[in-house]
Amino acid sequence: MKSKPKQDRAWLLATAKAVAERLKKHCEGTRLRIRVPRRAATANTDGWYAIIGDLGKDQPRLEVWFDRFSGYPERKLYACFRTEVRPQITSITKRVSRKLWPARVVTMGDTEEGKFLVLADRLARTQFNTPVLEKYEGGRTFYGIYDPTRETAQRVSPHFCTRAVAFFEDVARAMPNAKAEDEQREIYPRFENRKLVASHLHRERSKLLAAECKIRDDYECQVCLLRFEETYGKLGSDFAEAHHLFPLGRLRENVRTRLEDLTTVCANCHRMLHRMEGRPDDIKKLKAIVRNHRR
Ligand SMILES: [Zn+2]
Ligand SMILES: [Zn+2]
Repeated sequence: MKSKPKQDRAWLLATAKAVAERLKKHCEGTRLRIRVPRRAATANTDGWYAIIGDLGKDQPRLEVWFDRFSGYPERKLYACFRTEVRPQITSITKRVSRKLWPARVVTMGDTEEGKFLVLADRLARTQFNTPVLEKYEGGRTFYGIYDPTRETAQRVSPHFCTRAVAFFEDVARAMPNAKAEDEQREIYPRFENRKLVASHLHRERSKLLAAECKIRDDYECQVCLLRFEETYGKLGSDFAEAHHLFPLGRLRENVRTRLEDLTTVCANCHRMLHRMEGRPDDIKKLKAIVRNHRR
């Protein structure tokens, strides 16, 4: 396979940036300190790595790698915690849930001598996307997941980003004093002002006005036109959700909610709306998206 170091390095950096940007939105309640990397460093594993943050001061670093360590001809992506103080990582692996327990432990004896550091026994297909613990001299320790994404995929791999963010977040939430993910963060991921999000949700959950809204719209989603009853029969009758239309940015806390500020949506469209910007024309935009994708 032809090696194209320049593109590969750029691709690694773009991927690490994407992971950092996404992970930033999942840090609340954890000790994670994420920064978007500006450069990738050369690694002794025939590839590069970029540092995207740490688990707190003097704590393990978070890194994204792209190299041939796993023993395949093509480079593979890797998301890991790294430390020079081994107990920091061994204590993490004892705290995390079972599915994050290391599936393989690697030491210097498992690597091949040569120009680059490479696994002598390449990573089994089943060992991708499951944590590998690497222990080297001087306390240098890695704990991370390799991704099977192929080198030929030159756009940033969305699956890798999703897995890397999930892995980093799972570990960070297993640490002492970490809090479970804030429901509001989950519900309005792009919106920074948590107080306003709480206010938005409170308005939607005020039962009486919400009921009035759904009755007015005959329980029909105003985005995709779904009526739960038509799909779920009796089980879905009288079911829908109310969405507050007021732009989140301008929402004031003690303004009374009026019926015309609410609209009826299905559970799916509601979640999609909350992934948008919190602007009044989100509904119109989402309708257009649904229309375009149904053609
Ligand atoms: Zn809908
Ligand atoms: Zn809503």
